[in-house]
Amino acid sequence: MNGLPDDNGLYMPNEIPNHERLVKGIRELSFKDISFVIAKSVLSDDFKDSEIEDIIDKSISFDSPVVNINENINILELFHGPTLAFKDFGARFMARTMENAVSSKDKELNILVATSGDTGSAVAHGFYDVEGINVIILYPSGKVSNIQEKQLTTLDKNIFALEVAGTFDDCQNLVKQAFLDKKLRKNIDVSSANSINIARLIPQSFYYFNAYAKLNTRKKIAVSVPSGNFGNITAGILAKLMGLPIEHFIASTNNNKTVPEFLTKNIYVPKKSISTISNAMDVGDPSNMKRILDIYKNVENLKKEFSSWSFTDSETKECILHTLQNYSYLLDPHSSVGLLGLRKFLESHEEFEGLFLGTAHPAKFADIIEPIISETVKMPESLKSVIDKEKKSIALNNDYDEFSDYLLTKFK
Ligand SMILES: *Cc1c(COP(=O)(O)O)cnc(C)c1O
Repeated sequence: MNGLPDDNGLYMPNEIPNHERLVKGIRELSFKDISFVIAKSVLSDDFKDSEIEDIIDKSISFDSPVVNINENINILELFHGPTLAFKDFGARFMARTMENAVSSKDKELNILVATSGDTGSAVAHGFYDVEGINVIILYPSGKVSNIQEKQLTTLDKNIFALEVAGTFDDCQNLVKQAFLDKKLRKNIDVSSANSINIARLIPQSFYYFNAYAKLNTRKKIAVSVPSGNFGNITAGILAKLMGLPIEHFIASTNNNKTVPEFLTKNIYVPKKSISTISNAMDVGDPSNMKRILDIYKNVENLKKEFSSWSFTDSETKECILHTLQNYSYLLDPHSSVGLLGLRKFLESHEEFEGLFLGTAHPAKFADIIEPIISETVKMPESLKSVIDKEKKSIALNNDYDEFSDYLLTKFK
């Protein structure tokens, strides 16, 4: 519920449960069974079994299949949730655990979230209709895609979309100011659904176990993760620490190459983010590297089982076209970066079975993909219905007093 500790660091588990026994019998188990066993091992101090079962039932409610592309290359499709991106797993699980925790209080909890697109919609859908919790999303006017904006602004009930005349950084600053505003916090309860909340990483470890069960191989396994803030890959490393036999991780990035350069130069130099066609990965100073270094202690240890490479937009486009033409599989730009990293690793490690994470559905990025493949991308039903709905947002200037007035009037 805290999101971040007061000392500005990040939460890490004191103790990591061992799930080697789960791994042995894992092929007999369903995704929900696997998720329950892991969730119970981390939540049982605070939640009853029946509550954990309920959280899993409501949040792990869509599949994540492993699809073979060719030979030893497989994709884990994480985009079958309501907003068609992997962030649905973390957001839904966090929403259900928080729902359980607030139901014992009489005051409503207000979640403030600044978004550049994907995070806001996953959080909004995750918390939609959750009792006792409001979600207030701040997004930069004119700077999110049409589909993303519709996903943010067409829910009602407990979801409120504020369209800010400013940039993503302005939105984030308004949220930060609200957290520092003592007067505001005396009157209303606020929390964050920030991506560095550990509650979002826990459920992401579940699907690594499930993917292992479905891969069903005796070979060594390498997993490539298209990475931005490095949360998804951290969840994979946590799964490995719990006993999942993954031999090697590949952090595949776009031109935001802070981590690939860290591994070659051995010094970490944060950068300003630059914009690319895989925009959910445009991060110049990935927060979760602190967690990864906490686990591995130093860069030499890290490099034994972790590689990181960056790829340009033109390589990403080329890979989308090549994969469609040769294997009839359509990738979104983020997943394409993941495949590029895996292919690079497998060039010198043929003996491995390779898995890369498919983090978004291609239809979500149709505007980028259609010119590359010279075809129209088929829209899934869930997106079609969103596009036809009416946008409901509240216009806000980039002005903190206006923002706090809004919060106090509406939620006090
Ligand atoms: C957020 C996001 C990523 C990056 O995930 P991190 O956990 O931040 O590394 C990759 N692909 C898509 C589609 C995303 O939305």
